[in-house]
Amino acid sequence: MNTHEEFERWILEEEALSPEETQRLSRHIAECESCRTLQENLNQNLAFIKNSSMIKPAAGFVARWQQQLALRTKEKQESERIRLILGVLGLMSVLSISSCLVIFSPGNLVNTGLRLSNLLKLVAINIHQLKTMLSVLKIPLLIFSAGSVILMIVYVLVGALSAVTIKRIRKGA
Ligand SMILES: [Zn+2]
Repeated sequence: MNTHEEFERWILEEEALSPEETQRLSRHIAECESCRTLQENLNQNLAFIKNSSMIKPAAGFVARWQQQLALRTKEKQESERIRLILGVLGLMSVLSISSCLVIFSPGNLVNTGLRLSNLLKLVAINIHQLKTMLSVLKIPLLIFSAGSVILMIVYVLVGALSAVTIKRIRKGA
């Protein structure tokens, strides 16, 4: 005669039972509520697992998801590039404006004006003094030209980068 524990093992283990053993198990299940519950729960769980494995993602779902991910990554990269360009533009503008402020500050203007009038006077008096005055004016002129060159480079760079970025965004859209 089998014990209750042996029947439980028969239920849980997936070993093949002989027709005689199967009959004895079903007879015990009819009598024993604990084993009946165990068998029912096991059957329900097995059915649930079987059904779950049949639920597969819709066709093309993975491909669509990957496409979306790639698109989102690209959008993120583009917005980061635009932010970088704007940052560089801001920094360069600040630099250009500050260099312009230095050049056109009242002190410098007065100095430049004085030098200019001296220069004109000297030109009138002696054309050979021109060289000396030019050497005095060298530094402000240098700053001024540097500022202008930087400004021009900035606007050319920004224009080119914006054009490229807009082109890429349009291509990607
Ligand atoms: Zn039992």
